Amino acid sequence: MTALDPSGGDTVQCSCTGCRSTIVKCKNYAFEKVCNWCVTTDSDGQNQLCRSCELTNVIPDLSVEGNKQRWAKLEEAKRRMLYTLDLLNLSFDSQNGQLPLSFEFKGDPIVGHNWHHLAGGGQVFTGHANGVITINIQEADSVQREQTRIQMGEDLRTLVGHFRHEIGHYYWERLVAGRSESEFVSLFGDHTNPGYAEAKDAYYANGPAVDWEQHYVTKYASMHPWEDFAETFAAYQDIISMLDTAGHVGLIEPVDLTAQTSSLISTYQRLGMAVNELNREMGLLDPVPFVLTGAINQKVDFIHALVRGA
Ligand SMILES: [Zn+2]
Ligand SMILES: [Zn+2]
Repeated sequence: MTALDPSGGDTVQCSCTGCRSTIVKCKNYAFEKVCNWCVTTDSDGQNQLCRSCELTNVIPDLSVEGNKQRWAKLEEAKRRMLYTLDLLNLSFDSQNGQLPLSFEFKGDPIVGHNWHHLAGGGQVFTGHANGVITINIQEADSVQREQTRIQMGEDLRTLVGHFRHEIGHYYWERLVAGRSESEFVSLFGDHTNPGYAEAKDAYYANGPAVDWEQHYVTKYASMHPWEDFAETFAAYQDIISMLDTAGHVGLIEPVDLTAQTSSLISTYQRLGMAVNELNREMGLLDPVPFVLTGAINQKVDFIHALVRGA
């Protein structure tokens, strides 16, 4: 966190030593109050969208009550996820022919309106396809989200968790597909057999394998190797962001995030037990519900190497 020195008009100066950049609030900060990032500016002082906001291609319908607040919560979770990607030096820009990343925040059709043109109900599914991450804005409602969490038997269901999961699918396309697929298959299983649709049907018909906890970070990860990668990638970001923040607030010694996976995990396990106990003390859910077994640690190690290599 840094102070902003007013420098006349709408522009301010960053007070960081050696920076002193002239900056201006992101357009969505200045006018919509759904962002808190700034952008550097040339002398005209125009409010542009920041690098987080410019990735959002579809925003919720702001004529619907509550959607502005839902949008703000979605952007907040997205910025937190992007901040971790920056910590990891993991690029999410679309230069050099890389898969462009974008976000669509959409709501289900409202019952009682005329939505005849939406054949098949037009229900919005949270997911990733070709660089486009879609989030159903219902996930920004804490009551809805908790209801879904219990129905699905999940230990944790959070907005930032959705972003960390979906960006895992994005990086599978960018870093694994056609590059390190054989190593991926040896750890996560063959993603071509059974195919995704078949695996999904089987998962919802039969549930997870009885010994899923030995091999997977969550039940859902056992559905298909792609979901396993996304869930493990999300857990990896949990590890990195928790260690970074815990180091900054003085709970632990600052952590070198490029250290060996085993060292990161052992610090994270000690921290995880502590924060779980603190949450239980206050009657809250465990923020670190998963148990990292040897098989899971190998997958985390693969992801750590993949990220460092990128
Ligand atoms: Zn912004
Ligand atoms: Zn997924």
